[in-house]
Amino acid sequence: MAKYVFVTGGVTSSLGKGIIAASLAKLLQARGLRVTIQKLDPYINIDPGTMNPYEHGECYVTEDGAETDLDLGHYERFLNIFTSQANNVTTGRIYQTVINKEREGAYLGKTVQVVPHITDEIKRRMLHLGQSGEYDIVITEIGGTVGDIESLPFVEAVRQLQWELPEEDTVVVHLTLIPYLKAAKELKTKPTQHSVKMLSQEGVHPDIIVCRTEKPLNPELRRKIALFCNVKMEAVIEAADAATIYEVPLLMMREKLDIICMKKLNIVNNNEPELTKWKEFLDKLKYPKSKVSIGLIGKYLELQDAYKSILESFIHAGAINECQVQVINIHSEFITEDNVREKMDGLDGLLVAPGFGHRGVEGKIVAVKYARENGLPFFGICLGMQMAAIEFARNVLGLKDAHSTEMDPDTKEPVIDLMDEQKKVTAKGGTMRLGSYPCDIKEGTLAYTIYGKPQISERHRHRWEFNNKYLDQFEKSGMIASGKNPGTDLVEIIELPKHPFFIGVQYHPELKSTVENPQPVFVHFIKAAKAYSEKRSEVKNPLLQSEMI
Ligand code: GLN
Repeated sequence: MAKYVFVTGGVTSSLGKGIIAASLAKLLQARGLRVTIQKLDPYINIDPGTMNPYEHGECYVTEDGAETDLDLGHYERFLNIFTSQANNVTTGRIYQTVINKEREGAYLGKTVQVVPHITDEIKRRMLHLGQSGEYDIVITEIGGTVGDIESLPFVEAVRQLQWELPEEDTVVVHLTLIPYLKAAKELKTKPTQHSVKMLSQEGVHPDIIVCRTEKPLNPELRRKIALFCNVKMEAVIEAADAATIYEVPLLMMREKLDIICMKKLNIVNNNEPELTKWKEFLDKLKYPKSKVSIGLIGKYLELQDAYKSILESFIHAGAINECQVQVINIHSEFITEDNVREKMDGLDGLLVAPGFGHRGVEGKIVAVKYARENGLPFFGICLGMQMAAIEFARNVLGLKDAHSTEMDPDTKEPVIDLMDEQKKVTAKGGTMRLGSYPCDIKEGTLAYTIYGKPQISERHRHRWEFNNKYLDQFEKSGMIASGKNPGTDLVEIIELPKHPFFIGVQYHPELKSTVENPQPVFVHFIKAAKAYSEKRSEVKNPLLQSEMI
């Protein structure tokens, strides 16, 4: 039987509950325990797939095609495991299950209520992963902040499980904020006391308090928090601001978060956490030997969470290349033929981001053209790949009207067209081509060099695809399809063999990059950007040039 860790949050949102939960999971995993994490979100959408990135940040997609919270991305990147639909449940999904059961007659004769029917369904989901026998520990992160009306049923479910399960099978970790008041030059514990009180009023007493803080907690402050929150001194954990999220597992190890959890769970484990690879990664991340600037062309740039997995993939790929990746955000809406040179100045590579709708696409096309014509390393993801195809059609094949039917349903040259299977789809939630699909790779191509094998599998989230009617024309003029779905022939990868590095992928490689397994397209892209940057500095440095002569 698995044991259960619940992570709640207090005082404010955005404290990094997902990172704390993932760090704890990492430490337990590094001790040889089998761990998984799930996130329960208290909103009514069935999943975040229908939400705007400005609302919710990136929508993360799992192998099995679930559209999920971006915290699942952190879980996968930290733990190097796959999560699934079961790892992210929302209030909407809970109610949907209960209401469907009501219609089927499962509760005949009964009034269906939040307690016990909704809370029972929440408990069922909380226990579900732990019952497979695959895990020693299941960590459940409860989204939202304690005290919110909508998180009440989740807290109630934790309360009931604490009561139902043996004492040593559950532990509750509460993450709070200890604000620093500049004027008073003091860290303040009152918001934490209040939030623990609120949680206690709801019936859950936390075993461990993790305190986000800008300044170190002195022993006196720890004592105060312990006393007023009714936990042991050792259970007050300092979570200081870190330079990178990847440092947090080590900070938590220093604070013994894993040991205190194991103590409550009555787990005897004297293994030292095996974090050699993790530490090597951190070393490379902290002491890079070179630097590249990558332009990220997107339209949700005001909110960095919208491109979370892409940014994290750059960190992984940068570290393995011992290279600092500076990401320069370039708003696609404001790129024009007139300013493109100026905007691309100083870049060593260009990534055109995924996206939906027509806003900003013309700017993306102009940026692709610049990269293609100037030998600038180019990497297009999903919509970015589709824009690369349109740019090539317009400016190389001379198909001036080339477009995607997503932006121009009546275009005469639908180089990107709605997938057949999508034509009858009208519902929006969970209906894209989602999750993992295989892709065959042609030998002798850039894609083959990158992956080093003839078949790969990557995750997807799209409705449109490359229109194969144009493929011959493209290939004859120098843009090839180097990767295709083996069953449907859907073009998954395009590239320009004559260009130093130009690749567009229909899938989302950023969803599979982890600390231990950086995603190969990102790794090679950064390598190409490094080579480009070295060439640039050789040209700029006359001394080097003369030496070369
Ligand atoms: N809007 C495009 C499609 O649905 C691209 C999607 C994406 O970039 N994720 O095909």
